[in-house]
Amino acid sequence: MEKILKKTPVLDVIHMFSEYNLVNKGIVVKLYPDESMEDKINQNINNARLTWNKLLQEYQETFELFKQQGYTKLQCNIKTFNTMLNMLKTQYPFLYESESSSLQQVYRDLITAFNRFFNNTSAYPRFKSKKNPKQSFRIQNNNNIKIQDNIIVLPKLGKVHYRTSPQYKRLLKESKINNVTIKKEHGHFYAVFNIETEVETMDYTYKSVGIDLGMRTLAILSNGLKITNLDTTHEEKMIKKYQKSLSRKKYNSNRYNKTLKKLGKWIKRKNNRIKDAYHKLSNYLVKTYDLICMETLDIRKIFEETDLSAKLQNISWYKLVEMIKYKCEWYDKIFVQISRWYPSSKNCNVCGYYNKDLGDEKRWICPHCKTQHDRDINAAKNIEQEGFRLLSEKNKMNLRDWGDSTVKLLSWESTCP
Ligand SMILES: [Zn+2]
Repeated sequence: MEKILKKTPVLDVIHMFSEYNLVNKGIVVKLYPDESMEDKINQNINNARLTWNKLLQEYQETFELFKQQGYTKLQCNIKTFNTMLNMLKTQYPFLYESESSSLQQVYRDLITAFNRFFNNTSAYPRFKSKKNPKQSFRIQNNNNIKIQDNIIVLPKLGKVHYRTSPQYKRLLKESKINNVTIKKEHGHFYAVFNIETEVETMDYTYKSVGIDLGMRTLAILSNGLKITNLDTTHEEKMIKKYQKSLSRKKYNSNRYNKTLKKLGKWIKRKNNRIKDAYHKLSNYLVKTYDLICMETLDIRKIFEETDLSAKLQNISWYKLVEMIKYKCEWYDKIFVQISRWYPSSKNCNVCGYYNKDLGDEKRWICPHCKTQHDRDINAAKNIEQEGFRLLSEKNKMNLRDWGDSTVKLLSWESTCP
């Protein structure tokens, strides 16, 4: 919040000097490794997984000793993990075959996982299984990752063929690459590049919106616009079909691996369609609105949820919110998340009456001011109002008249430090 608000006072000033913002972006390309490259990638993946599991085990054992002495928390730091890694390397010499930054990345990820756990934003880090259809390792770019027309040169691994759109190719060649994650998913190989690139800033619209996320309808906007969920029944049917046939085959047999690849193709197709829809929706939102208000999702609920379809729903909401959030940062727009305890459905957005008796009804009439409400639109309007209130409180000013004048935005300059 702090960061976004500090940016806004100078919105118009920024625009006078620069039309671009520097951002980090992820770019996924498909890899076509030959047999020897496939072996090398598998070796690197196995080494990263072994390192993760051994370091996690080592940490747990140390923590157990600390617990006996009355400690409740054991902080992890880079230095300790680096020493542990060097000891592991003498024990398992094949770890030297890995690109060294990829193993250092493992303990960095482990430290992040533990920090998330200690901050209550994530579950306890788990051991990685060889049977997981998704495996990966990450390499830092020390000026040793090269992008050519059809070939990527990776440090220690060598050349691998890739395919992507001409637009992505150009972007990869022109941008600074921070790191690359090599992924194996359901038998297919991918490289995910984290690059630094410029995005063109957007014009300001001086418009705001509240968004309510729902089960039946994906998103409901405070202006009454409803965005339906994408229909992925066909993809889901095919995924179920191949999952069933996979369960009947012998693990790691030829037929098993063939079916696994087909399953992977359908999962990817479904995910890509959803991701594409989310990109379109989030682009539309940041282009149309300068202030976007949403509810805060309870991330812990995602991990604690036992019902699979509810879990998936939570994860996809989370992805959409994250996408809107980072795009707001890219384009200097304001993103406000309201408390998840705020009763957005039960308050009347016209008179403020709290309807404690409201159940699951889609439509209701306010007993106090007699306004007819669509449940979801009313919630979205309340989310927008609450977003305004939070923003005004933070800035100690009245933002109610936001809407059509540039004067309001410029006046922020004098009030914000
Ligand atoms: Zn009312």
